[in-house]
Amino acid sequence: MARNAGSTGPRIRREQRTIAVMMRIYCCDHHGGRDALCASCSELHEYARRRLEICPFQDAKPACNRCEVHCYSAARRDRVKAVMGYAGPRMLLRHPWLSLWHLIDARRPVPRLDRR
Ligand code: SF4
Ligand SMILES: [Zn+2]
Repeated sequence: MARNAGSTGPRIRREQRTIAVMMRIYCCDHHGGRDALCASCSELHEYARRRLEICPFQDAKPACNRCEVHCYSAARRDRVKAVMGYAGPRMLLRHPWLSLWHLIDARRPVPRLDRR
């Protein structure tokens, strides 16, 4: 069920912060997007942000790569994977707490949609 932006819980807000940080790191290093994301990264960021906003699992959300729903289009999934693969290790020093939470969240159990 889709939810409004105002109804997202702490888990989703944290993931939205994480993807924003990762997109900044990736765009800065690949496209020179130092002050703002380039148009392509901006579009991808908005797409990912919106996926999180309407994620049916909300605070019980698993890592997207372990999710049974896979709500991303194949092309965007590949792009986000590339962003995370590049920015994940680089985020560690600049945003240690966010990185730690990202690792913890990645190990959370995978809920089944029909049990909710
Ligand atoms: S892939 Fe799964 S966990 Fe990730 S946002 Fe989409 S529905 Fe939620
Ligand atoms: Zn970019």
